[in-house]
Amino acid sequence: MTGGNVKDYSIATIGSHTALQILHGAKQEGFRTIAVCEKGKEVPYVSYRVADEILTVDSFADFFDVEDELIKKNAIVIPHGSFISYLDLKRFKKLRAMHYGNKNVLDWESDKGKQREWLKNAGLLLPKIFKDPETIDRPVIIKFDGAAGGHGYFLVQTPEDFWKRLKETGNENRKYIIQEYIIGVPLYIHYFYSVLTEELEIMGFDKRYESNVDSIGRIAAKDQMNLKIETSYDIIGNIPLVIRESLLPKAFELGQRVVDYSKEVTPPGLYGPFCLETIVTPEGEFFVFEISARIVAGTNVHISGSPYAKFRYREPMSTGRRIARELKNAIESGRIKEVLG
Ligand code: ATP
Repeated sequence: MTGGNVKDYSIATIGSHTALQILHGAKQEGFRTIAVCEKGKEVPYVSYRVADEILTVDSFADFFDVEDELIKKNAIVIPHGSFISYLDLKRFKKLRAMHYGNKNVLDWESDKGKQREWLKNAGLLLPKIFKDPETIDRPVIIKFDGAAGGHGYFLVQTPEDFWKRLKETGNENRKYIIQEYIIGVPLYIHYFYSVLTEELEIMGFDKRYESNVDSIGRIAAKDQMNLKIETSYDIIGNIPLVIRESLLPKAFELGQRVVDYSKEVTPPGLYGPFCLETIVTPEGEFFVFEISARIVAGTNVHISGSPYAKFRYREPMSTGRRIARELKNAIESGRIKEVLG
């Protein structure tokens, strides 16, 4: 197959989440860029000079209104977290514009049960789920359905505590899951899997800065009790990390397992950027509590590339740029169809 030219394509995404990084990376690789913005929220994409063109919609839910225009411009759409939050998943799966990544993976990612099955069957270590509250025998976190930012989540370690707290917090009628609480440190691993080279890369790591849980340690326990502070996990920012070098082989292994299993259940499998959200114990065990099957906001800390990306690329390589590099390689080698899903 003959190769094409990046100049014949545009890269488009919706203006939020990791759009600055994606569009900046696309420009670094020579693509034309399009930001689809909500009316009144165009400023960052204009100010930072990342978008050659801005298409405005009243709300992201109206994204499909500009689809014909994207098709006309030969745009490749790069999905990120805001697509899942704002767009109708069923409709998104029928997107006619070119799309980077395997859309079928979204079914697995958006369903917590399926996600768990995926990670478990891939052989990863997951926090245990307690179906029956009477069997609680260790620290557990109670998570409520639809509790964005983890509002109302609480920790207990006995059945008695569980019933008491459920009543006190007025949550008796809400749907919840009881999950083993892993005592360790949170670690978010940013992967990239290339279908062109069939190689898994680790682009970097981050940890989250969440309000108010990350500042509760600044308040003495007795004051926390007096003030009746409720823990929440609203994401405010991200912090870059490097990990102990001897933990790197394990981090690679986890990502490889997830990719290998995804090839079995939804060929051609998971490819492009993805993230495993883990808690690492003092024994060096990685418990995985979630997977994001696309670029995560934590990669925004590495716009000039993480130390790990530096080893491999020796030039600034963000995850956004890595996506564009993959598309460029696919276009130039006549393999673009293999990376569109
Ligand atoms: P989402 O909307 O992405 O599902 P959320 O904010 O509702 O997220 P989680 O991401 O599940 O909730 O968890 C919130 C926080 O609690 C995270 O910071 C994570 O580090 C921590 N956490 C979640 N599950 C566990 C666990 N099993 N053990 C220890 N910490 C956990």
